[in-house]
Amino acid sequence: MKIAFFSTQTYDKTFFDKYNVGLGFTIEYYETALNEKTVNLLGEVDAICTFVNDQISRPVLQHVAQKGIGILALRCAGFNQVDLAAAKEFNVKIVRVPAYSPHAVAEHAVAMMMTLNRKTHKAYNRVREQNFSLNGLLGFDLYGKTVGVVGTGNIGQVVCTIMLGFGCKVLAYDIKPDAQLQAAGVTYVPLATLFSQSDILSLHCPLNEHTRYLINDQSVQQLKKGVMLINTSRGALIDTRSVIQGLKSATIGALGIDVYEQEEKLFFRDLSEKIIKDDIISRLSSFPNVLITAHQGFFTQEALTQIAITTLSNLNHYKNGDPLENEVRF
Ligand code: NAD
Repeated sequence: MKIAFFSTQTYDKTFFDKYNVGLGFTIEYYETALNEKTVNLLGEVDAICTFVNDQISRPVLQHVAQKGIGILALRCAGFNQVDLAAAKEFNVKIVRVPAYSPHAVAEHAVAMMMTLNRKTHKAYNRVREQNFSLNGLLGFDLYGKTVGVVGTGNIGQVVCTIMLGFGCKVLAYDIKPDAQLQAAGVTYVPLATLFSQSDILSLHCPLNEHTRYLINDQSVQQLKKGVMLINTSRGALIDTRSVIQGLKSATIGALGIDVYEQEEKLFFRDLSEKIIKDDIISRLSSFPNVLITAHQGFFTQEALTQIAITTLSNLNHYKNGDPLENEVRF
């Protein structure tokens, strides 16, 4: 079976080649993302594998189906980038990696909290410049603070557990509260309460029609003054323009984002010699209390191993006509 991989980086090749030994798939790696323009690149393949910023729109799926390709394997958990109705219409099966390492993303969210709070990124640079002053590095104890978690699925649960370990009060909001987390000390509250009481607010829900711009002009008004906002889920959970206003008014005291609504034009590339035309990310980068990472939450040895194993296993099940346990159904 021949598979076309889109949006591939060298580390993808390393992990997929390693776990393809024994399975024997023929893999064609493309650096380019899959979208309406690049779908014409598709040669004679049996399957496609894509990542978070490939645009699996209706025209793409139509083209894929016309080529007789019956499966598209997402090597990620989120599937907001896929037109699922079109996938169903054109009979293209969509499989994903539902949980590869919730610890990877949760620990990155906590790393962002720690960095923004104790300003270790600034301290590192200062000390290298022989500036041993502490002015401007003042943080706060996490112990006793209130952390609000939106979405307590695989990743949100781990964040809750870590923050309980710090001695924080953990509040949560989810459409399906988790009894085990409640027993562990997490308190589910309405979203408005979560917004008004949290010193740190961390987003771990999927992006869908209910959660798009969860953080907007109105909700920024509801946030506790000086809140630290962390988003490692999907960029469009927050309306970046509203958040910039929140930072300017100091309603938002710190912002950590691993995802950005327009990230497909920026992330996973070295643009250090280019002129960035996106004024919104440039404005965000200008704030001293904003930390941006380029969608690296998933980037651990354990997660990449699990992504490769599960994706190849999904494709192997398809090849053998076995049930697709990780199929995205709706
Ligand atoms: P999950 O499906 O296990 O959990 C999502 C939780 O959100 C569920 O408990 C669900 O009930 C809840 N939810 C759904 N709709 C909601 C709503 N309207 N309001 C509140 N809660 C709602 O997903 P996960 O594995 O924990 O991943 C969470 C998100 O993290 C993914 O959707 C993905 O976008 C993102 N992610 C980011 C990275 C990264 O590298 N930064 C990596 C993996 C996943």
